[in-house]
Amino acid sequence: MLVHICCAVDSHYFLQKLQKDYPDEKLVGFFYDPNIHPYSEYYLRLLDVKRSCKMLGIELIEGEYDTEAWLEAVRGLEHEPEKGARCAVCFDRRFEVSAKKAAELGEKTFTSTLLTSPKKSLKQLKTAGDALAEKEGISFVAPDYRKASGTQEQNILAKEDQLYRQDYCGCLFGLTMQREQQQKLADELFVPISGQVQPESIEARIALYEKRWKLEEQGVTYRIVKQRFLNWRLKFATLKVRKVPVAAHILPYSTLRGTYTRGKVEYATGVLHHMSRDEVKFVTLDDYNNLLGTDYTDMMQLIFAPPPFEQEAALRSILGLDSYDLSSIVIVETVPENKIELILDAETYSDVKEVLLPTTS
Ligand code: SF4
Repeated sequence: MLVHICCAVDSHYFLQKLQKDYPDEKLVGFFYDPNIHPYSEYYLRLLDVKRSCKMLGIELIEGEYDTEAWLEAVRGLEHEPEKGARCAVCFDRRFEVSAKKAAELGEKTFTSTLLTSPKKSLKQLKTAGDALAEKEGISFVAPDYRKASGTQEQNILAKEDQLYRQDYCGCLFGLTMQREQQQKLADELFVPISGQVQPESIEARIALYEKRWKLEEQGVTYRIVKQRFLNWRLKFATLKVRKVPVAAHILPYSTLRGTYTRGKVEYATGVLHHMSRDEVKFVTLDDYNNLLGTDYTDMMQLIFAPPPFEQEAALRSILGLDSYDLSSIVIVETVPENKIELILDAETYSDVKEVLLPTTS
């Protein structure tokens, strides 16, 4: 039986129920979800599904990440709410490709973990699955694993096995709408040009979940623990001196009262050069190198390949500032001597991140 899989939280329970109910069937997992954006989130969910299938001894096939074909299929439905017409197309498409894959592999039946979704009635899903299966000359299996306390059991299992629990359905349209309603930054869609891994970004989560895979291979016990913290994202920044843009690097947790300020450097305290307004401070690249033990030879090197976020964030304390200081700190080749303009749009916000800690008891 081919089992289309959408995520580990849904599949881990679903597959175990199938193993009990269909003991003579060889189950083959099929991860086909081009609706998951961005690609890093797709990779993260796949990583967790791989782990779940490995735990359950189930073979897993990865489908094509044909996200452009998916976008074409939902064209014109971008503004539909969740559970609306876009979601219907999204479900149908994943069913259709799975039915074709099952037939191609010579399987007689197929099913999908989408059956556990609260977004559609089981009856509707069964009707769609039956029709697509019939087209391929196979049959669709639609067990109701939500009934009784199924959903509750699924959640308990997800917690016990510390599965990755995403907090949005998958596509950028649903994500954007959800974050707008929550009045929260859609930070999942931010990737700095430097590629620096931002706190509680998808890239940071991938590193954490890859690390846990290694710990499990080494037999180390651990817990994934949630922590509330102050997060930060830079949306854009430009530094101009005498109206000419100058290469500059913005230190993490730099903020402004608005998004624009101007002034002149008035005085220095050690390596910090203070602008006349809005708490803006400059540090030269040489001083930055000395303080962090780096060896950048020019600003472009630093802008495109900065040190890890945490190392840069720690620079505030090294500079003698409070660790909760939010002044704009700008790294420049030389301290500007003329009129300065700084455009900086950055957001700080309360957030929750996961950290991996080895257990001691
Ligand atoms: S919200 Fe979810 S189900 Fe709906 S279109 Fe987006 S990814 Fe598909």
